[in-house]
Amino acid sequence: MNELAPSGDRAPCAATAPLLPELQVIDRQFMLQALALAAKAAVQGEVPVGAVLVRDGQVIGAGWNAPIGGHDPCAHAEIQALREAAQAEQNYRLPGTTLYVTLEPCAMCAGALLWARVARVVWGAADPKSGAAGSVVNLFAEPRLNHHAVSEGGLLAEDSAALLRGFFVARRQKPEPAA
Ligand SMILES: [Zn+2]
Repeated sequence: MNELAPSGDRAPCAATAPLLPELQVIDRQFMLQALALAAKAAVQGEVPVGAVLVRDGQVIGAGWNAPIGGHDPCAHAEIQALREAAQAEQNYRLPGTTLYVTLEPCAMCAGALLWARVARVVWGAADPKSGAAGSVVNLFAEPRLNHHAVSEGGLLAEDSAALLRGFFVARRQKPEPAA
């Protein structure tokens, strides 16, 4: 795992532990909800990624990866959560929110999160092939863009990575459908 997040060090640390436990507990709770949604995606045959959008301790949008079932290349978990929240709020801007997502956002999702003015993005496993929060590019901190978001990676990363690994192993073992 790369050291991606400027303030995302979630490992127990004597120096920072007294300041962070409450935030860590809250962040973990929401990431566990996102992981439950990711598991739902896997059941539907979709790459398991889940997301919840939170404001003031309340989930205002939730989603899981569903591009195959929805015939929709944009149906990533983050976009689903943004759409649900924006509909609920009747507003395309979602300031003051935190998005929890089990996998590092891609460029499309990072762009959408910036357009929606999401303030903070907490993600789980890094995506070395398409991550846009530091793995390939870091759109949340790109100085040439006019909006930014706080990005913290690596929360419950191993749980997310295990879910993804299990999914791909199972998919490889599945017999090819008869022609
Ligand atoms: Zn995405």
